[in-house]
Amino acid sequence: MLSRRTFLEIDLTAYINNLMFFSRKLSPTKVMAVVKSNAYGHGAIELSRVAIENGINKLAVAFVEEALELREAGVKIPIIVFNYFDPEYSKEVLANDLTITIYSEQQFKRIKERVPEGLKVHLNVDTGMRRLGPDVESALKLAKDIVDSGYFLEGVYTHFAVADERDESFSLRQLRDFRRFLESIRKIGITIPIIHVANSAGALRFNCSEFDYARIGIASYGLQPSEAFQINELEPVLSWKSVVSYVKKLKKGDSISYGRTFIARKEMTVATVPVGYGDGYNRKLSNRGEVLIGGKRCKILGRVCMDQFVVDVSHLSKKPKIGDEVVLIGKQGEERITVEEIAKLIDTINYEVTCTITSRVPRIYR
Ligand code: PLP
Repeated sequence: MLSRRTFLEIDLTAYINNLMFFSRKLSPTKVMAVVKSNAYGHGAIELSRVAIENGINKLAVAFVEEALELREAGVKIPIIVFNYFDPEYSKEVLANDLTITIYSEQQFKRIKERVPEGLKVHLNVDTGMRRLGPDVESALKLAKDIVDSGYFLEGVYTHFAVADERDESFSLRQLRDFRRFLESIRKIGITIPIIHVANSAGALRFNCSEFDYARIGIASYGLQPSEAFQINELEPVLSWKSVVSYVKKLKKGDSISYGRTFIARKEMTVATVPVGYGDGYNRKLSNRGEVLIGGKRCKILGRVCMDQFVVDVSHLSKKPKIGDEVVLIGKQGEERITVEEIAKLIDTINYEVTCTITSRVPRIYR
């Protein structure tokens, strides 16, 4: 139902083009499509389906629930779970053929108590994130314990902390330490079928061609993986559209919205848009953000409310009518509002802007 004509338009062709851009660029390294957090807000089930139709053969999510949702939707290919799960759910993991991440001896033992054998696991080795995983030295013992346990140690990986930043030195050190770990694991006769290191920024900057997969998230959605460089080939996948719900003339001195943070200094025409922070349209965009109406930028006036906000349309030669299209993210005419532009205005990263668009906004796939 689209009663308020507000939706995210998800361009599946753009998503495929972005994945194929990486597949070509990184070959023979393959692309693992990272679809956690509902594919960064874009819709994990639909995007996973088209990724698989186009040759992607591994998916990654953060949590078991996300993987189970994909299984329930009929996704059959391997899904790697990056993050924590309570061992109580180990049997579901086994029954649904999920690949889990082992990141500590204690976590490994807790899971083994529930499922003594048969789990397929990847070991996360910490080379600098200090978030999950043993350091290079302790990882060797954990790898041996996993192999001896009757679990299948299918993969090992590490994760870059600053692949997006200008200074490459820390990432190069991480790579060097990870290669040292791989060398020592080979020396003791353990063969690891799947090794993966790079995220989007890392895959674009560092030569990781000896590894089997790159874990591509942000850039597959056509969003820039770094502020330090621009990748022109990426096509934004998500547009956010709505309509004008009301048009009104203001008199000099009239105020707009809660807190009266905007006062009209002259006569104005304003339009209301039925979208708010209840949809994930950030309240910090109050008096700062812009939308597109009639192909022109229109400034937000006053505070963004839970379900609506008001914009200035005084400068439009053709005044909008109720039902006219409003673009919050994406293109209209010659103008475009990017996710990155919004991220900058609210002092965050593009990842957070799309991840926080709530389920109240329907996703339409084209
Ligand atoms: N690998 C891991 C372990 C991650 O946590 C993430 C995302 O945060 C990714 C890969 C994908 O990173 P990006 O979206 O920067 O490509």
